[in-house]
Amino acid sequence: MAKIIDGKKISSDIKDDVKEAVKALQEKGQTVTLAVVLVGDNPASKVYVRNKKTACEYTGIRSLSFELPEETTEEELLRLIDDLNKRADVDGILVQLPLPEQINEDKVIEAIAPDKDVDGFHPMNVGALSIGKKGFVPCTPAGIIQLLKRSGIDMDGKHAVVIGRSNIVGKPMALLLLRENATVTIAHSHTKDLPALCKTADILIVAIGRAKFVTAEYVKEGAAVIDVGMDRDENGKLCGDVDFDAVSEIAGAITPVPGGVGPMTIAMLMKNCLAAAVE
Ligand code: NAP
Repeated sequence: MAKIIDGKKISSDIKDDVKEAVKALQEKGQTVTLAVVLVGDNPASKVYVRNKKTACEYTGIRSLSFELPEETTEEELLRLIDDLNKRADVDGILVQLPLPEQINEDKVIEAIAPDKDVDGFHPMNVGALSIGKKGFVPCTPAGIIQLLKRSGIDMDGKHAVVIGRSNIVGKPMALLLLRENATVTIAHSHTKDLPALCKTADILIVAIGRAKFVTAEYVKEGAAVIDVGMDRDENGKLCGDVDFDAVSEIAGAITPVPGGVGPMTIAMLMKNCLAAAVE
């Protein structure tokens, strides 16, 4: 039976470290501030924003909330971002995605000052990651590296397979694993014989978005399996991209859903906000 990687505990340790550092800054008269921008009424986005604000409260980070109506124009949103870029009392800016269809997401991401881009989505930060320079790293893959490190899973020289090549998870994940000296393969919907490829992985990261897609036949005995998926099963219950019950019989370590990768994303956002304030 695989060791369960406890994302709740690890994320809570990280948030406690951030809380302490935020308090130390506060004592020197510096407040860490995150501006959170939500456009429209997407129910999932509202939940994500609420969770981020709760984490800010816990860590002592001041959160400024900007909730704009669904019909907000691109120009209005860009004007707000410009204001926030200029404000000396704002360290980080987070625009919750997705945005309503009249707004071009790329334009908005590119409008955020790279040194306030705590999501790590700005092309400058993406470029910095790809050439190994300092910059903000997207929170979900950064959180996965922490899960692996803090669970004592060595990446150096290991074969890591990442299923999924999105800009927010798959691609930055592969680059971060490379930085840790893993030998990395990226798989996607055109990959041939995916189960056989995955079975060669010492570390298997699954970010597809299809409930219980990865079954036992994909997994090498003893491998570490990280499940990024946030899906619903046939009964509407939250589950991941990995068939947890079957795979946990074979894997050496595995993240559950919920309680694995999910809480790490917010903890790493808090860490990025702190970094935005001190660097
Ligand atoms: P995405 O943008 O939809 O990308 C999905 C990727 O999976 C694509 O690269 C796609 O390949 C690949 N894929 C789809 N079907 C496949 C198949 N049958 N075989 C192999 N590859 C396949 O999704 P995402 O934003 O990366 O998110 C992935 C999952 O992670 C979702 O469930 C999302 O909800 C979850 N997520 C969780 C967190 C968290 O904090 N826990 C954060 C972000 C995302 P192609 O490129 O060829 O189409």
